[in-house]
Amino acid sequence: MLIVGAGLSGIGAAHHLQEAFPGKSYAIFEAREELGGTWDLFRYPGIRSDSDMHTLGYRFKPWTASKTIADGPSILEYVRQTAREGGIEDKIRFQHRVVRAEWSSEESHWTVEAERVDSGERVELTCNYFWVCSGYYRYDEGFTPEFEGAERFPGPIVHPQHWPEDLDYAGKRVVVIGSGATAVTLVPAMAEQAAHVTMLQRSPTYIASLPAEDPIAKGLRRVLPPKAVYATVRWKNVILQTLFYQLSRRRPQAVKRFIRKGVEAALPEGYDVDKHFKPKYNPWDQRMCLVPNGDLFKAIRKGSASVVTDTIATFTEKGVKLDSGEELEADVIITATGLNLLFIGGIELVVDGDPVELPETMTYKGMMLSGVPNCAFTVGYTNASWTLKADLTSEYVCRLLAHMDAHGYSKSVPEITDPTVTEAPLLDFTSGYVLRSLDKFPKQGSKEPWKLRQNYVLDIGTIRRGAIDDGAMQFSSTAPREQRDASLASA
Ligand SMILES: Cc1cc2nc3c(=O)[nH]c(=O)nc-3n(C[C@H](O)[C@H](O)[C@H](O)COP(=O)(O)OP(=O)(O)OC[C@H]3O[C@@H](n4cnc5c(N)ncnc54)[C@H](O)[C@@H]3O)c2cc1C
Repeated sequence: MLIVGAGLSGIGAAHHLQEAFPGKSYAIFEAREELGGTWDLFRYPGIRSDSDMHTLGYRFKPWTASKTIADGPSILEYVRQTAREGGIEDKIRFQHRVVRAEWSSEESHWTVEAERVDSGERVELTCNYFWVCSGYYRYDEGFTPEFEGAERFPGPIVHPQHWPEDLDYAGKRVVVIGSGATAVTLVPAMAEQAAHVTMLQRSPTYIASLPAEDPIAKGLRRVLPPKAVYATVRWKNVILQTLFYQLSRRRPQAVKRFIRKGVEAALPEGYDVDKHFKPKYNPWDQRMCLVPNGDLFKAIRKGSASVVTDTIATFTEKGVKLDSGEELEADVIITATGLNLLFIGGIELVVDGDPVELPETMTYKGMMLSGVPNCAFTVGYTNASWTLKADLTSEYVCRLLAHMDAHGYSKSVPEITDPTVTEAPLLDFTSGYVLRSLDKFPKQGSKEPWKLRQNYVLDIGTIRRGAIDDGAMQFSSTAPREQRDASLASA
């Protein structure tokens, strides 16, 4: 087995794999020098989860810290601990960027090519199963639109993905461009030291406040052991979040009113909520932002932060000039303008000599590609915590491997056997960062098992418990080469 990526997903995958098959050998190829992926890469002030750790944590490892909206370093430590405890760390080959993988049906294995990041040397290895846990975005470069006049601004222009350790913003005027999870995290965190922080957004986002510490978890901790608290609060959160998402899709007006009430109560009297906190789209057409204990609203109330909703005409020597004519003066500009999405870490896949064109494939259960044998990928939910789906994916891959072992199969490949399945875009988000990349992604199908349901409760039924041999997953066995050679010789 080869796992690509030593982030939250890759470490979780390795845990499941070695628990289920102590006898199988595996390695993890990781492009970076450290494990932890996202939680090691992002170092901006205030970095934290924007979903609760009772669902962002692994199913097999209770999150026991008091804060349920946790800071980045604590999440990184949790991933590191998981890797240490299971001896997974020893299986990681750091600075190995996987660039290409070619499947041979004749040999029944993948030949995987990696590049050593330190020396540029090419490394090749073969594996029976290839499992890509590479996250969903480019690590080398965040997304920054072209800003006219950027060269005129004399101060630092920083993308949160590449935060300079020595960035000094104490007592300075900061403009944060963006309105997503990163911007709403950065603004209150930087406002603690900066002279003033302005969040400059093109359009508003739905923002809801959540207690940083779950009050039910806090109460249960007094009477139940950690494992039981974790399981209970995890289920409570899964159910509440699923209901909230379903309600958002079915009764958007009611959910809009509910969110707005919260925002109005948290902001000063007379605040222009319509202008700055009334999105043009429905809740969950784009990812919703959570702020722990209303920290963003508190900073606005205090006057240490403010929101401006406008479009940028140009950067200037003094800051940012807006299309309305207003100029925002700044010493530091932060471009919290998002990520560049990247599917399966940019790895080139080839099957029996034919390059795999991702947009021509369809995702099977949101974890495999039609026509691509012995290969899985881990991608989390967009409307719930990533790890809920990552854990289910791991469980499914282990069940599939056990099925193959039990029947002597060496190859499993999802094939579209139902001619009535039609294709649809993989994601239905309307966010710019999704729309920018969607044409490079595989498709989803109109029905099971090709449809991406983004629903943990339903996925438990099909992914954790559903039949492995479902008509779409095709199995075959190839006798090992020596056996074939021997039978040819005897013939
Ligand atoms: C700032 C930020 C906050 C987030 N907050 C949340 C949250 O609160 N809740 C939530 O559910 N999700 C959140 N997410 C999504 C988040 O990325 C996932 O929760 C989770 O961390 C993903 O883990 P992963 O292991 O799948 O991917 P990553 O963390 O991206 O790790 C992937 C690893 O694979 C390696 N890799 C990639 N390509 C290759 C290659 N070709 N060869 C070798 N190695 C490779 C990378 O170097 C990296 O170490 C957040 C994302 C960001 C950017």
